[in-house]
Formats: sequence, structure tokens, C-alpha cells
Amino acid sequence: MVEMPVVEPGKCDGCGLCINVCSCGALVLVDGFIMVVATEGCGWCLQCEIVCPTGAITCPFEIVSEEIKM
Ligand code: SF4
Ligand code: SF4
Repeated sequence: MVEMPVVEPGKCDGCGLCINVCSCGALVLVDGFIMVVATEGCGWCLQCEIVCPTGAITCPFEIVSEEIKM
């Protein structure tokens, strides 16, 4: 499964700023809200999160910890 940015629809005002900065075509405006389409092209550039004025879209990182054997 491709990890993609996450949108909180209740916070999205449909301004479209995130679409303008996205280079992979994953962000689509549907009925005034952003939908995220899974694509291998998303390089986690974080630009959608940075540009969003309402904090509606985030790129949550998964932190994986591994025990180091000495
Ligand atoms: S992280 Fe970058 S490439 Fe991925 S959806 Fe956001 S703007 Fe597009
Ligand atoms: S920048 Fe934020 S508020 Fe604007 S369309 Fe994208 S997710 Fe919605």
C-alpha cells in the first residue's frame, strides 16, 4: 500500500493551493474538498502540508524503532 498525505475534510476550504504545488497529481478537488489519490509519484516533498493555510493536509511520518543488538 502506498503511504499518502492525509486530509481532514472538515478543515479543507477548497482553496486549491496544495494542488498548485503538487508535482505528482495525487491531489484532486471534488465537491470543494481535496481527495488524495494513491500514486507512486508522491515523493513526500511536504509542500502540500506547508502551503495549506488551514492545516487540513498532513504528511504523517511513521517512526520505526529497531533494537540494536550489540
Ligand atoms: S507530499 Fe508533495 S508530491 Fe506528495 S501529495 Fe503532497 S505536494 Fe504532492
Ligand atoms: S491547501 Fe489545504 S485548505 Fe486548501 S485545498 Fe488544499 S487541503 Fe484544502
